[in-house]
Amino acid sequence: MEMPREITTYCPKCGKHTVHTVKMPSRSPQRTMSKATRRHNRAIKGYVGSVEPKPATKKTGKHQVVLLECKDCHYVVERVVGSRTKKKIELKA
Ligand SMILES: [Zn+2]
Repeated sequence: MEMPREITTYCPKCGKHTVHTVKMPSRSPQRTMSKATRRHNRAIKGYVGSVEPKPATKKTGKHQVVLLECKDCHYVVERVVGSRTKKKIELKA
């Protein structure tokens, strides 16, 4: 799936259509001191492998997300592109 690098679309902050730059979202690393991570580390302590059961069915794809940044006010909106798919989004050169 290819996306153009610039899109003219509605900006909720400006209240009108403006030019937006398309960006790929960057994944933030897992927080090592969050409550869920500490609880999980406590649960798997002393065991080998995973403690939590694996889900029976796996969904075969994810919603692809891009970030749209308004060129006028630099407001960033997240947008889901299409439905569940295995294809990754690439920005056009
Ligand atoms: Zn704007």
